[in-house]
Amino acid sequence: MHLWSLELWRLAWLSGVLTLAGLVFGAPGAGLALGLAIYLTLHLRQLHALHHWLTRTPQSEPPVATGIWGALFDRLHTHQKAQAKTQQRLRNTLQRIQDSSEAMNDSVVMLDRRGDLEWWNSAAEAMLGLRPPQDRGQHITNLIRDPRFVAYFDKRAYREPLTLTSPIDDRRMLQFQLTLYGDDERLLMARDITRLHRLEQMRRDFVANVSHELRTPLTVLTGYLETYADHAEQMPPRLARSLGQMQDQAKRMQNLVDDLLMLSRLEIDRPNPHSERVALPPLLEAIQHDAESLSGGRHQIKVTIECDQALRGDPKELRSAISNLAFNAVRYSGEGGHIVLRWRDHPAGAALEVEDDGEGIDPVHIPRLTERFYRVDKGRSTETGGTGLGLAIVKHVLLRHDARLEIASYPHKGAVFRCVFPTQRLVKDTDPAALT
Ligand code: ADP
Repeated sequence: MHLWSLELWRLAWLSGVLTLAGLVFGAPGAGLALGLAIYLTLHLRQLHALHHWLTRTPQSEPPVATGIWGALFDRLHTHQKAQAKTQQRLRNTLQRIQDSSEAMNDSVVMLDRRGDLEWWNSAAEAMLGLRPPQDRGQHITNLIRDPRFVAYFDKRAYREPLTLTSPIDDRRMLQFQLTLYGDDERLLMARDITRLHRLEQMRRDFVANVSHELRTPLTVLTGYLETYADHAEQMPPRLARSLGQMQDQAKRMQNLVDDLLMLSRLEIDRPNPHSERVALPPLLEAIQHDAESLSGGRHQIKVTIECDQALRGDPKELRSAISNLAFNAVRYSGEGGHIVLRWRDHPAGAALEVEDDGEGIDPVHIPRLTERFYRVDKGRSTETGGTGLGLAIVKHVLLRHDARLEIASYPHKGAVFRCVFPTQRLVKDTDPAALT
């Protein structure tokens, strides 16, 4: 405000003095015009100086000026210095981020909103074979062409990582993780998990081999135990009792070995691409029959069919999974319990439910139930002949059939185990040609 009044004073003074001078010469109008012209020229000079400063030498000191122009130059200069400082800070931060990404062993690739490559670190060059500068601006799926990666990229739901072999060396296993950020841009991280993968494979092979090797001695032992049991009446009662216990434990061990082998097979084998059409009614009736034998008439077991579609899958695996659920329903519900095996429509496709009104499960245990050897009550599980592997098998079988397991239960309120199969796993029960 102060500078403005000063400026107005300057204008008034210049035009006043020159009008007066004009008056002396009898031409006050010409005096006023001269005053205004001088004032305008002064401003045009400053405007020219400003333009020159901004376009030619913006980093240099501003032109020297007084009054409102001096203040304007000072303001602009301070603003420019602050701007330059911020830019330098941002440049330093960016450099630090790039340096730290550069120092990482994992690949880091920045993609723009279309999925074109913007920047990557040198680990990405070694791991994914990216070549600067020709790959800059290329679409990521032109460089990592595996259909599983393309599907993962297009899905835009990146909660789970994706494990694939390296596009340049199929002996190396990489774990890819995409993250959406900013304006629909994506960050791709790839980690070399070859060692971890090898260890995991060794663990699987070890369990499979041990279980396999245990089979023969166990068969021999149970064989002898059976022979001795046939002559139990000739033995002293104490020995006969121990023989019974030995047989029970041998049976338990056999179940354990069978379940371990089954799990190993499910983990090692690739899902069968030539799935068969599995009609649910006969399968559920056969399982109902087996469950009734296990129950020994203590439970009422019912099959309900509310869906006319068949499943595309492996009949043996499906039978094993559903049997595990049905046997659990028998084992974890008391005498007089009601069990329903139900095949029904579901918004996602179709669902196979095994429902019981038995002892139920506290919801805190539900998220961990499918872990190997996780039991709510270990004593109870062993007593009913459980191995602790049943639900782990169910989970693996369902994974191989693109299905998911939902568990709803409360203590003393029974339990519902629901296997939800997606539409692409269903075929019309009446249409045998629909099978791939
Ligand atoms: P297990 O051989 O011990 O039954 P599973 O993996 O089949 O092992 O089941 C894990 C645990 O889940 C069981 O120990 C049991 O506590 C619980 N469970 C499974 N099914 C039922 C059910 N129908 N009702 C109540 N609890 C169940």
